[in-house]
Amino acid sequence: MKSWIAESGGAGRRSIAGLPASGLLALQTLTGNRAVARTLAGLAVQRRSAQGLIDKRITLSAAVPQVVDDELVPIGEAPGRFDGFASKDAAIALARRSPEVAIVVRDPDRYHVLRTTAATLGGKSAGPENPKGWIIVEIVEPAKRSGADTFEIDYRAARQLTGDARAAAYRRLLVTGTHLEMSETAWASSESDATPGKVNVALWLPSRGRHLPAKVAPTGTAELPRTAILIGSSPFAEGAVSLRSTLLHESRHAYHMAETLKLVRRWRQTRKSDTLPAWDAWLKSQRKAVPPEVFQTAWANTHEEYGTATTETYSHLYGFMYRFRRDGDAQKDPSALDAAATLALHVRMAGLGSLGEYWEAAAQDARDSTMDQLAAFGAELTPNQRQHLRNFITKAGAGRDAPKVFYRELAKRL
Ligand SMILES: [Zn+2]
Repeated sequence: MKSWIAESGGAGRRSIAGLPASGLLALQTLTGNRAVARTLAGLAVQRRSAQGLIDKRITLSAAVPQVVDDELVPIGEAPGRFDGFASKDAAIALARRSPEVAIVVRDPDRYHVLRTTAATLGGKSAGPENPKGWIIVEIVEPAKRSGADTFEIDYRAARQLTGDARAAAYRRLLVTGTHLEMSETAWASSESDATPGKVNVALWLPSRGRHLPAKVAPTGTAELPRTAILIGSSPFAEGAVSLRSTLLHESRHAYHMAETLKLVRRWRQTRKSDTLPAWDAWLKSQRKAVPPEVFQTAWANTHEEYGTATTETYSHLYGFMYRFRRDGDAQKDPSALDAAATLALHVRMAGLGSLGEYWEAAAQDARDSTMDQLAAFGAELTPNQRQHLRNFITKAGAGRDAPKVFYRELAKRL
């Protein structure tokens, strides 16, 4: 078995400077493994096998000689101790992120990613066996990357994976697509598996997103839960802007619940009587002291019989405003946008209809304050964006089940 050995000194050591370190460092940065990238910069590396030093030039088949530049290191593995992947999927996932042609080889029971160059790789008919006993598992062409389509390429690669590699790839997508740190993300295979306090990738979720818990009991002394956010599969399929607007939406719910929990904690410290009516009376006494958004959602969050209209109104508001402001088509002249593009834009604006439905059922305070925010949002838009918004309201507002009161009020404010 071949392995990378890191040594601080000794005969025959080779400095990292002798390897194409810049490519390796770039890849480490791409994979988000900045800590390893930093470590690499100070390491001396030597490659060793049972036979002794391995030459960098390895002939993979008699017909197609291939130059192996270096071996890539996966997230969380220090290069000095890395002796290949146990998982073929993990190796292929890393190869897909390589900016150069990469091959995945098995030797004999671990998987390695080797970077080559397109010029030396030549034909893809390289024989399965080679003199060193390395078996080619897969040849991976470099992904054509530009800033805008990186997310989509990574998403397509993530979908091909299984198991831990799939989980890791989706969490990386969540990090690259949003402002989150890796430590703020988690993988949830079911609702009970969700990690509190984190944004969980939950591909099984039937909706775009969810937040937990939905309700909290103010009475009693049971420890209060932490909030968790779950993100379903469709925002990943739709791209980074959709992912961020979904995160914003669910973060608003989580904010409402976090504020509720703060209020419950304060009440529990001073309560004279541990009953729901006592909580109600205390919460009402706070009405002037907290924003209407917080008061209304705290009330709903602590009463089983109350619906989600107010928290959904605010969540849809923030999700919609974020997404619409960043929609490229919404910035174009409406009269220059063809019917198909206009329809696609209107599909992306559908959140406004959901907002309207909840708005019509929400508390009056919430209706007033969200309508004020929409009016202020409209005032900041460009003339093109505002016209798209008006066109959407006219078209969507004519629908049979449209939230007509909402659209009528909004039209007056734009
Ligand atoms: Zn929601």
